[in-house]
Amino acid sequence: MIEEISELSMKSAEDCKKNPETAERMLAAEKGQAPRFLIISPIHRSSQDLQLLRFGQGDAFHATRVSGFPLLPPDSSPHLFAGPAAFNRQFPEKTGVILTFDIDEPQGVIRTSIESVSQHPDIDDIPIIVFRVDYETGRARVVPHKFGRTYEIENYILKRLSRPDVLDNDTLMIICSDSRVIPPITPNGLPMAIQTLGAHVPAFDATLEETQQLNEFFKEWLSNETHERRIIAVVHGNFEGDGHPCGAGDFSLHPEDVHGKYLESVIEDLKHDAEQYETKPAETPEERVIAIGTATLTNIKSYPAVRDAIDRGAAHDEFLKILKMDTVTNVVSPYEIEPL
Ligand SMILES: [Zn+2]
Repeated sequence: MIEEISELSMKSAEDCKKNPETAERMLAAEKGQAPRFLIISPIHRSSQDLQLLRFGQGDAFHATRVSGFPLLPPDSSPHLFAGPAAFNRQFPEKTGVILTFDIDEPQGVIRTSIESVSQHPDIDDIPIIVFRVDYETGRARVVPHKFGRTYEIENYILKRLSRPDVLDNDTLMIICSDSRVIPPITPNGLPMAIQTLGAHVPAFDATLEETQQLNEFFKEWLSNETHERRIIAVVHGNFEGDGHPCGAGDFSLHPEDVHGKYLESVIEDLKHDAEQYETKPAETPEERVIAIGTATLTNIKSYPAVRDAIDRGAAHDEFLKILKMDTVTNVVSPYEIEPL
């Protein structure tokens, strides 16, 4: 499966280079990113949302909501929500924060999630655009709310909706929030994705609510037929020679340059966790993100639901893997780590 995902990414990169619009996006990605939107997707809709909204490389920075649960307030969700939303602050043109919900999610989940967005000081002045989506048909309805809205952008997005490809419910990618890296497709469809700064997921911590939510997610997802389930940490950087490093990975090498409550704490966590897997101090962002990916996979194994699944025999050869992705071309290749 890992080899097939790598081959698909190479084919996709070749197709993109032949298309003038996508080729131009790749050229822009070499210089940096300036996404107009922050999307907060549930884990199982993260890749589908990009197709639904017809967003391509560079269009949207990503944060994550745990499927089935309300988005937590910033203090309770530093890694999945607060850190990525704080990182988003630096971009020049912030058109909107988009939240998506499945068609059958309770109104209370939506209301609480919108309130959590409104509590984040780095995005509280950006219009919030909320959709209830039928992913089978690609149709969506706008959810009205009392925080800042922009009817013009809501209508613009509604007009461009398209039906997303099928979900590969067996594959979970953990990938950076960076707008230039798109979760790689698998032979079975669009993967689920957790999008965080540097593709970092913290260890389970019974006092941190976002890790409790994640554990509930893992409990349900890994409850049966785990032999097909796989978790892939996708770390990105300048792996092909003419691209751009991971911004969060780069920040974690220079944490003294990082400012802001939420960003500082998350970047410190990245640095701390990565250093456990570096035999000598990382000199490049690429060395750093490999260590972050390794830390993430080890951290994933600290979740009680994942440990249970492993004890029940879920840990097949490809259960936990790392892929290296080039920021510009999005081509991925396997990175072999010592068995964790
Ligand atoms: Zn990154």
